[in-house]
Amino acid sequence: MHLAQWENHHDEAFSDIRKSLDNVNGMFVAYNSNVDAIKHISEKDISKLLTLVDLGEVQEKIVNYPREIISPVDLISRLIIAMRDGKAAEVPTYTSDIHEWLTDNLVFDDARMGGQAGIISNLLAHLGIRKVITYVPWLSKEQAEYFADLPNLMHPVIEDGILVLKHPRQAYNPEFKPRVNWIIEFSKGLEIKYGEEHFVVPRDNRLIISSRPLWIRIDMSRELYEQIPKLEEDVDGAILAGYQMIREVYEDGATYHEYVQRAVNVIERLKEGNPDIRIHVEFTSIQNKTIRKTLLKDIVCRHVHSLGLDTVEVANALNVLGHEELAYSVISKGENAIVALYEGAVRLLHDLKLERVHVHSLGFYICVVSKDHPLNVKEHRTALLFASTLAAAQASHGSIEHLNDAAMGLDVPVSKDGYGELEILGKYLVRRDICSMDDFVDGCIHTPTHDVIVVPSKVVKNPIATVGIGDAISAGAFVAMLAKMRPAK
Ligand code: ADP
Repeated sequence: MHLAQWENHHDEAFSDIRKSLDNVNGMFVAYNSNVDAIKHISEKDISKLLTLVDLGEVQEKIVNYPREIISPVDLISRLIIAMRDGKAAEVPTYTSDIHEWLTDNLVFDDARMGGQAGIISNLLAHLGIRKVITYVPWLSKEQAEYFADLPNLMHPVIEDGILVLKHPRQAYNPEFKPRVNWIIEFSKGLEIKYGEEHFVVPRDNRLIISSRPLWIRIDMSRELYEQIPKLEEDVDGAILAGYQMIREVYEDGATYHEYVQRAVNVIERLKEGNPDIRIHVEFTSIQNKTIRKTLLKDIVCRHVHSLGLDTVEVANALNVLGHEELAYSVISKGENAIVALYEGAVRLLHDLKLERVHVHSLGFYICVVSKDHPLNVKEHRTALLFASTLAAAQASHGSIEHLNDAAMGLDVPVSKDGYGELEILGKYLVRRDICSMDDFVDGCIHTPTHDVIVVPSKVVKNPIATVGIGDAISAGAFVAMLAKMRPAK
């Protein structure tokens, strides 16, 4: 199939899903929302910060490479490392001291909704999904302000023992504090001088200080948990994310086992309310291998239907599931990386007993589905192409405030590079007799053990924003799939 045909398929898919989105009764989205405070740092800001700390201590910390931010010295040393190497980094902090120090000494330029569940809730509400039921265990007044001011966006609360749905701005707990992540962006060419050291930042990038205050729990009040099945037909699907916040051990002696069990129980309660519900988990990078493995083996496996991930996350998931060699091939950037990616997605589908695995990469998506999935491959392809248009709209405009904004993504061309990469996979599948070249160019492949959908995606050359595009792709494809599964209204 030529690129022009893929453009047509995108157009058809978008108008199909635009008409069908209303079939979806509602979505439940949990758990992680936070406020992202963004600061684009200047040489002057850095000089100021450097006057506030002991440079000898900073030097020492740079060598020791702090993996957690406890003091301003930790923060500055990780910032210097990130700027020196031009590398993106995310470092956790477990108190609000650093947030307060940064607020006093480095005022942010902008603040916006952060966290997978928060970003996805706002996107789905803007797309006009009938009911988006978002749930944040730590919904504070400040956090609530970042939720889109739309009537179809709601948060569950228990009032006099009864479950009611209210806009997050009417549902927050005034006693909760906001969870604020700092995103410190730096530009190529900044000249950094401290003590005897001097370097020039080689690349634009960012340091994220990820706030993990000790009161954060992936949890739900007993009362709410009991009433979850009452949501019933209001939810056709759930998108769950944020399990990376689960800790191995808590100060009160609780361990991750307890929180994993609670997370599974919530899924089971959702299924009680609607046995046809589909559950999607959005994966992310999780440094702690115990938590990464338990998320996959104890929460995703057997309880969840669908998993969304990017290529690095596929490698990370394969790694803890005992497929180290395949994981290595996925990230090796060699010619066969795309073949390893496909094989990896197939492994995840089977090992984790899933119905659907959706992998997104720059320029193409691969989706592997089980044979008993109620949709046919063409319908899955429609869902993926809808997601590609959403991603293009988000990358070129920075945000999507309405389904009409999403339509603007149609003007972005399908990636030639992505298409080129897919051809490598096509040749492999044909050589292995898995499919014919005709099936492959159509993007719809049947094998005896699973079906595969591969599509080239639209890529924006000079994106104005890249944060949250992966979330938009996964959520967009999943809700479009639900729209095709539900009867027309
Ligand atoms: P995030 O968590 O910030 O969303 P991910 O790595 O999960 O990051 O997802 C990024 C995805 O966004 C990529 O896999 C790619 O498909 C998509 N993407 C990135 N840049 C662009 C772009 N310029 N145009 C279209 N899609 C993009």
